[in-house]
Amino acid sequence: NLIIGILALQGAFVEHEMALQKLPIQKKIDVVLVRTPGELARCQALVIPGGESTTIALLARLSGLLEPLREFVRVKPVWGTCAGAILLAKAVVGAKKGGQELLGGMSITIARNGWGSQLESFEADLDVTGLRDSERPFTGIFIRAPVVLTLEPSLEDPPIHVVSRLSPSLLPESLTSSNSTPEPKSFVALRQGHHFLTTFHPELTRDNRFHEYFVRECVLPSISPPRP
Ligand code: GLN
Repeated sequence: NLIIGILALQGAFVEHEMALQKLPIQKKIDVVLVRTPGELARCQALVIPGGESTTIALLARLSGLLEPLREFVRVKPVWGTCAGAILLAKAVVGAKKGGQELLGGMSITIARNGWGSQLESFEADLDVTGLRDSERPFTGIFIRAPVVLTLEPSLEDPPIHVVSRLSPSLLPESLTSSNSTPEPKSFVALRQGHHFLTTFHPELTRDNRFHEYFVRECVLPSISPPRP
C-alpha cells in the first residue's frame, strides 16, 4: 500500500482524504492525517491542504513540525493546494505582517491573495493539457487563491511543467495591465520534479484527476524509480 499523509493542522483536509481513496490506480492508498513528526515520518508523500498559510505555518511550528516538514520536502513528494502552494514556494509576496514561514521546494515566487478583492472567490474552466482526458475541462474552484508571479528554476533544479492554466482572457485587469506577459500568472498547476502545486481547490470538485496526477507523476515514480 501507498502511505500518503495529509497535513491536518487546519483547512480542507477531509476532502483530500476522500478523493485519494477513490483513485483508479492499482495500489491501495492508506491516508495518514499528519499532526505530529511521528505521523509525518510514516508517510511516503504529503498533501498540504488549503486553509490559511500563516496559520498552518504557525501551527506547524507549535507542533514541532516545521523543520521535519522542510526535511520531508527535500526528499519526498509534496503537493500543496492553495495555502499549501504558498508554503511550497521559495518566495512569497504579500505575506502578513510578521512574515510567512515557507517550506520551499518549488522554484517560484507566489503572491498571496493575488487575484484582488473583486475576484476573492470564483470558478473557472481550466485548460488541463497535462491531465488524463485533457479534452474534458476541469472546474477550478479558487478561494482567496495565490497567483504565480515568476518561475525561477536554477540550472540544477528540475524543470517546471505547466499542468494547467487559466485562459489569459479570464485574468483580471489588475494582473495584466502592466507590461508583463499573462504568463506565468495564468499558471494554476505546476509540477517540478516530484513536487506539485495547484493554486485552486481540486478536492472540492468531484473530478479527482489532479489527485490521480499527483499519485502517478510524483508519488509512484519516487517509490520505484525507472530502471536505467
Ligand atoms: N489566502 C489563503 C492564504 O494566504 C489561502 C486560501 C486558501 O487556501 N483557500 O493562506
